[in-house]
Amino acid sequence: MTYMVKRFYSDERWPMTVKRGLTLEEAREHCSRDDTRGPVSCPNGHGYIGLRGGTQVKRPKRCPVCETGLVPDWFDGYNKE
Ligand SMILES: [Zn+2]
Repeated sequence: MTYMVKRFYSDERWPMTVKRGLTLEEAREHCSRDDTRGPVSCPNGHGYIGLRGGTQVKRPKRCPVCETGLVPDWFDGYNKE
């Protein structure tokens, strides 16, 4: 069995296939990387948070202003092919 990685967007855009023919481990590895997620922003309009300057910036899960869960602009997820 192989897996495909798709890029999902927070707006109306249709998911885009990024990679195909991966093993489960490869798909998991890909999706856990920090560069397979877009910048996160507050859905209540408090702006982008934790934007990457270097590569190792840990992004917060919640908005420091209103505590709402932050939403990435896009992220990669995997499915069975
Ligand atoms: Zn907020």
